Amino acid sequence: MRRLRNVKIVATLGPASDDYDTIRALFEAGADVFRLNMSHGTQDDIAARHRIIRQIEADLERPIAILADLQGPKLRVGTFTEGTVELHEGQSFRLDLDETPGDATRVQLPHVEIFAALEPGATLLVNDGKIRLKVEACGPDFADCLVTVGGTISNRKGVNVPDVVLPLAALSEKDRADLEFACELGVDWLALSFVQRAEDVEEARVLTKGRAALMSKIEKPAAVRSFKEILDASDGIMVARGDLGVELPVQNVPPIQKRLVRQARADAKPVIVATQMLESMIESPMPTRAEVSDVATAIYEGADAVMLSAESAAGAYPVEAVRTMNAVAMEVESDPTYREILESSRKVKRTSIADGIVSAARDIAETTDIRAICCFTQSGTTAQITARERPPVPIIALTPLITTARRLCLSWGTHCVLTDEQERFKGAVISAVRAALKYNFATSKDQVLVVAGVPFNVPGTTNILRVAPCEERLIYRSEPE
Ligand code: ATP
Ligand code: MG
Ligand code: MG
Repeated sequence: MRRLRNVKIVATLGPASDDYDTIRALFEAGADVFRLNMSHGTQDDIAARHRIIRQIEADLERPIAILADLQGPKLRVGTFTEGTVELHEGQSFRLDLDETPGDATRVQLPHVEIFAALEPGATLLVNDGKIRLKVEACGPDFADCLVTVGGTISNRKGVNVPDVVLPLAALSEKDRADLEFACELGVDWLALSFVQRAEDVEEARVLTKGRAALMSKIEKPAAVRSFKEILDASDGIMVARGDLGVELPVQNVPPIQKRLVRQARADAKPVIVATQMLESMIESPMPTRAEVSDVATAIYEGADAVMLSAESAAGAYPVEAVRTMNAVAMEVESDPTYREILESSRKVKRTSIADGIVSAARDIAETTDIRAICCFTQSGTTAQITARERPPVPIIALTPLITTARRLCLSWGTHCVLTDEQERFKGAVISAVRAALKYNFATSKDQVLVVAGVPFNVPGTTNILRVAPCEERLIYRSEPE
């Protein structure tokens, strides 16, 4: 199985997508990466979904990335007897510390530090800012609020208090436990919520000990300000527009999105655009025109991946939502303007031999009819710097390491293939060509490019760019050992 597009699709799993058949249908419809949100569901739920994904991976013989999203110091309401309630403008609603499931009059807000900091007149925003509450009276264990904008509130919805500064650590006790749990389970990416400084990422780096790649969710104004340092410290970036659009004026989000996408690409680190991409598909089989345009914009901007949250986790049409993203991607990527935009936003970086080689590979791909750039990679870096070039042909990343293959599932245009450890260049070329043929990237009459480092298995040695015929007979004849 191969995808016919470059941008990757991340689908969040939840109650609407927790069995083998649905998750497999999501993968078949186009999901490349599954996100497990540690804010919802127990460790047992996460383990069960992890097991199902690995089963699908084995059944379909394609690597699949799993991204575990740590809750971070996010403030959330507790649960409701009915799961959800409707809040109406003008009604009163109480937040307190009582664990008893809530109803239309009250719910738990299990954070003493909020009550300590609240003042009458402060605004509380719930569920990515959709519901607004105004504090009328408060004490150390309650806040009586007026609903100024109503809506549906449900279990563990996020709360923002934009007017109040709260002293919160980057990784809570729960996050540390979840991090260890997720690493032991074997997830490929860990998303860190509410990163504010590079030190937050470095702290997680010490705890993960290389077991997972680190994705920083940019959802705080402070993270936007320190973006360069955070990017340096991270393996990938998520433009988490939900909280970003609550903490900053919502109209500030699109320019920030554009800047973050470009900078992450320039650094050869995958970047996901997330939140509300097809929000109306939670309830409707058809997206709005504006949502389709939003997904298209992220793809035109050159994002590595677009993401579904509640649409696939808790919506009525999870598979349709993935199909919609896939269809939008196919259309955008066949538009000549797409290539023009990717080209004009390409930042030429020439600091190493590898940079020069992959850039030359892109130039050759541009001007000839080679069918794919096959790169051998251990850590994934060679594939990522190739992806940075956003070449006009697919990238086939060949690696002996399943962890690398899975992590690269998030990278633009990259088709990951597991190979044996290579020892000789001729054997490597043959493996590359076989992969290109097997996944229908080329026929035996075509040519592909091979990017490799000899000697093999020494990191940082990318030093060969070879045009290879796809016919094995010709390889035997032409290739030196
Ligand atoms: P975050 O701030 O981390 O994005 P969120 O609450 O917005 O958290 P998402 O994962 O973005 O959560 O969206 C998933 C939606 O699906 C949420 O609205 C959540 O209420 C719902 N949901 C319910 N159960 C789950 C679950 N087990 N996993 C994920 N989402 C769930
Ligand atoms: Mg969040
Ligand atoms: Mg969300």
